[in-house]
Amino acid sequence: MATTTDYDAPRQPVIEEDSLEELRVRRETPNAAAVDVDENDLAESFELPGGDQLDEELTVPVVAQQADEFRCSKCFLVRHRNQRAAAGQDVCRDCA
Ligand SMILES: [Zn+2]
Repeated sequence: MATTTDYDAPRQPVIEEDSLEELRVRRETPNAAAVDVDENDLAESFELPGGDQLDEELTVPVVAQQADEFRCSKCFLVRHRNQRAAAGQDVCRDCA
């Protein structure tokens, strides 16, 4: 069958292009992982400058938000409920 070989011939270069695209995707993936690196840098920067004093500050971002706190849906900062722009909305006054 001549048709069979005709179909096989063009497929091979197509597969090579696919593998090239996979390589491109893999190259982009480490860039996305850079976000995690930033978080690690932040954690390190908290520990670097200091001693025991920063230990107390460290617990602030780590501890989950309290019942009287909310997380602003715009700036993603945890705010006290007093900073809430309006009841029922997770938006702080700064972002309202
Ligand atoms: Zn906000």
